[in-house]
Amino acid sequence: MKQFEIVPHTGGKISIVPSENSIGFQNQKDHATAVFQLGLSLVDGSVTYVPFGGIGTTTMPKGAIPIYVFSDKEGYFGKSCPACKGYFRTDSGGEEIYCPYCSHFDNTLSFLTETQQEYIEIYIKTVLIALQEKSDIEIDLDNIIANLSNNSSPFVYSEERQQRSNKCKSCKIRYDILGEFGCCPNCGKLNTFEVFNESLSRLLKRLNNSSLEQETQSSEWADVLKNCVSEFEAMAKDINKELLRIPATPSRKEAISRISFQRISEANESLSKWFDIDFLKGISNEDRIFINRCFNKRHILTHNSGVVDDKYIKNTDDTTVRLNQKIYVEKDEAIKIINLLRSTGKKLIDGYESIS
Ligand SMILES: [Zn+2]
Ligand SMILES: [Zn+2]
Repeated sequence: MKQFEIVPHTGGKISIVPSENSIGFQNQKDHATAVFQLGLSLVDGSVTYVPFGGIGTTTMPKGAIPIYVFSDKEGYFGKSCPACKGYFRTDSGGEEIYCPYCSHFDNTLSFLTETQQEYIEIYIKTVLIALQEKSDIEIDLDNIIANLSNNSSPFVYSEERQQRSNKCKSCKIRYDILGEFGCCPNCGKLNTFEVFNESLSRLLKRLNNSSLEQETQSSEWADVLKNCVSEFEAMAKDINKELLRIPATPSRKEAISRISFQRISEANESLSKWFDIDFLKGISNEDRIFINRCFNKRHILTHNSGVVDDKYIKNTDDTTVRLNQKIYVEKDEAIKIINLLRSTGKKLIDGYESIS
């Protein structure tokens, strides 16, 4: 599936029958579809979220009429965050929502997109006219979609596919976001570990690709090591961004924002001291030295063609290499750093979740 593709409205039919005092809808059945419900008060014109009741029951407040908000053809509702303006999609039709990007928590009404708001306006206008004129109306959304030349009817707004589709490990709802990291719009759980773990699994797969020529193997192992360390840093930065949301003094926040996960031991000391998150807990001294060397190897592989410089020697006390020597990465080394960083990353995320 292509990213940023337009995903059309799911379709269906809305029927307004004033003589029976009913407004109902019919879903399309041959593709994904979802609906949530709002209520328009005929007393004061306010719009509120109204959960669907069980069969034969109604949850609609007295004097209110239902407004049905439909998903796109993939079963997702588009959402626009009132705080950061970020756009995402989710199949959650719940009353309250977290923004996956900035964690803003609000009523679903605050997350309506512009096109959904236009739809609600025209929906209300149409229903009020039908009630006033006491005339039955059927709005055939499928028909509108079929006859649409430029996708311009406010009744059938479309959505836009983003980049990473997630299924929350806790509450199982699905959401589609820009970039990689985000929290579940329904329960707020971060997807950080899933993203990191998937990247590490891809790297392990690369290592097991035995079809490589011998001379390209070493640069492949070096590339895997570089990527592994970068993925760890991206994951840790995402957690750091979340830590910055925790109330703290300006100077503490400043210090948190300056943490560099390239200097992994220092970063661990700071997080242990400030948040009781010791993500190197249980890692032997020997393995800590190994992790530190890998982080510094990544640095010279990226910035110095893999040639040992003074800074590398100073940061690692590595006596197995000499100044100006070119380093090579072994396959076992790459496997070891992947496994160590997976458990370290898990500890960091678990530590964050235990205090959030
Ligand atoms: Zn936001
Ligand atoms: Zn969830």
